[in-house]
Amino acid sequence: MFSDHIFMVDYKDGNWINPRIEELKPIPVHPGNLAWHYGQSIFEGMKATKDKNGNPMLFRPEMHIERLNASAERMCMPAFPTDLFIEAVNQIVDIEKDWIPPAKGSALYLRPIMVAMDEALGVRASGEYLFMIMTLPVGPYYPKPVSLITEQKYVRAAHGGVGEAKTAGNYAASLKPAQKAKELGYDQVMWLDAQEFKYVQEVGTMNIFFVIDGEIITPSTEGTILKGITRNSAITMLRDAGHTVTERNIDIQEIVDAYQAGTLTETFGTGTAAVVSKVQKISHNGVELNLDQSKTVIADKVKGLIDGLRYGDVEDKWGWVVPVKGVSVEA
Ligand code: PMP
Repeated sequence: MFSDHIFMVDYKDGNWINPRIEELKPIPVHPGNLAWHYGQSIFEGMKATKDKNGNPMLFRPEMHIERLNASAERMCMPAFPTDLFIEAVNQIVDIEKDWIPPAKGSALYLRPIMVAMDEALGVRASGEYLFMIMTLPVGPYYPKPVSLITEQKYVRAAHGGVGEAKTAGNYAASLKPAQKAKELGYDQVMWLDAQEFKYVQEVGTMNIFFVIDGEIITPSTEGTILKGITRNSAITMLRDAGHTVTERNIDIQEIVDAYQAGTLTETFGTGTAAVVSKVQKISHNGVELNLDQSKTVIADKVKGLIDGLRYGDVEDKWGWVVPVKGVSVEA
């Protein structure tokens, strides 16, 4: 369910013009729209919550605009001004604050999106763009631990590709393998690298973490993995709490070996939607890893810290949680 307003701004002749908040409604789009044909479309996903006193809060909005602009750069799209983004998210959340569900675990999900608007056929970067922020209330997400299967035929991203950009095509490419995983009885695909099908990348719409012998490890981001904001928050918080977190290449065989040796104590995914999702089963090359859920400590700690910050229960020593201000957007 979407809330009832949308922020919109156009990009024409090299300028972002006419920022406005309107009632959400369908918009007319020319059938020759370049985004439809060639996929120049990038987006973000972030959450607004209310603290204990009912004040709306945003989580790391600067990091979202930074990532949006990194995606824009890769996709030949114009950068979006940080100031305008911050004002826009503040305004739209202020207007839609009654849509923020009060229950813990609930949030108002914000979907900033930038799409090409030129009407032309021919593979080239568009001259005109539309940037929008829509919002939608999302309920408490209490997922069961998920089951994953490694993908040995299809890949999400190759070196030199667009894996690090939050662009529509990455998600389109994931649909078929995700459907295949579902048919086999698994919740999500665990992506391996495109060259050797050996190194773990990420999972569905989450980054992945393993705990082996007390060391927390997560794949390093080297162009093929989305640089998750929850991933970054988890790494920072865990390190600040005295844990060792290592970002490096992780051979899937290392995970299988650690499981068989009894040293793999936890596997979990991080992302804006789920915050933290525990993994109960991984299937790789016919080998099933059934993870003992009674051993999870780190996943609960990360979830507790991030949720605690979002609802104002954990002291924000990182300055990540920003109170929403109802400021005016200037044209
Ligand atoms: N990987 C992919 C492919 C995703 O779509 C997401 C969700 N944005 C993530 C990882 C997690 O990123 P974040 O923590 O910023 O939501």
